[in-house]
Formats: sequence, structure tokens, C-alpha cells
Amino acid sequence: MKIDVSDLMEEPGDELHGEYVVNTDSMGLSSGTAAFVEPALIKVHAVNTGDGLLFSIQVKTRVAMVCSRCLERFEVSLEVDFDELFRSGSRPQPEKNEHEVQEGEERISYFTGREVDLLPVVRENLTLALPMKPLCREECAGLCLLCGRRLEEAACDCQVDDIDPRWADLMKLL
Ligand SMILES: [Zn+2]
Ligand SMILES: [Zn+2]
Repeated sequence: MKIDVSDLMEEPGDELHGEYVVNTDSMGLSSGTAAFVEPALIKVHAVNTGDGLLFSIQVKTRVAMVCSRCLERFEVSLEVDFDELFRSGSRPQPEKNEHEVQEGEERISYFTGREVDLLPVVRENLTLALPMKPLCREECAGLCLLCGRRLEEAACDCQVDDIDPRWADLMKLL
């Protein structure tokens, strides 16, 4: 999703507002565990700070994931807000021995020409917002370790006491 920033680049203080609906079919998430189920609504406010073009971006969409406990597919709304500074030109070569970018440090992207492509940063921020361990709900009971039944739907008659003590530690992790 490329945005023409010709007007924005004219002088410091220039602003840009926009709302975009992006077809997520072509977007893809870096994580294989989640898939979009609807287009992304992207709100953009950008200002020329003199030091670059500071974009404040809000993205709303819905994704489907698989619960890491009960393996059921579920959908959640996903919303992320982030800022990204775009500078015209190419990324400076890092100095030797330069420290890695510290957390909390300003995020900077570089662009050439008169268009800024928001897709890479939108995709990256959505991917970061996905849970490492998706759960259909916080207290998901998961699957019975003995019979494999999905305990969210119905309890089973298995005697959990019968579980081999060697499994006990593993169960605490689930
Ligand atoms: Zn679940
Ligand atoms: Zn069972």
C-alpha cells in the first residue's frame, strides 16, 4: 500500500490524514499460525517533522488462529497502533561496532521517490501483536491427556489420577 507523500514533503508542519481498506489476501503474515479473515482497516496520520515524515498508524482487522491447548480454530479482533518515522534517502551504513537498535528507540524506515510503502511496517507490527501461544480463551481447558476429548465441549470420565506421574510435570505446563 503505497502512499503519495509529495504534498507532505513540501515543508515541515505539513500533514496528511487517510483511511485505507487493504485486501489482506495479498498481505500474508510472517507467522504461519494465523490467517486474516477480513480486510484491514488502516488509519493514517502523518506529519512532516522536518526530520522526516512521522506516521501514526492504526490497523484493525480480524485473524483466525488455532488454540494452542485445544487445537480449535478461533477468530479474534486484532488492533495495533504504532509510530514510524520515514526518511527520504537510503539507510545509512551502520558504523562498525555500533550497538544494535535499543528497544524503545525510534523506529525509522527509509524511502526513495515520492511514495511511502506502509505494507512492510503494517505487516511487521501485526505479526508482533500476535500471541506466541494463542488461546481460544484464557481458561481453555484443553484436551484430555488420556482420551483426547476437547474439554471445552464436555467433560470426560477419565480418571486424571491415573496419569503416570511422569506426565504430571508436563500437565502443569499445559
Ligand atoms: Zn482452546
Ligand atoms: Zn478423557
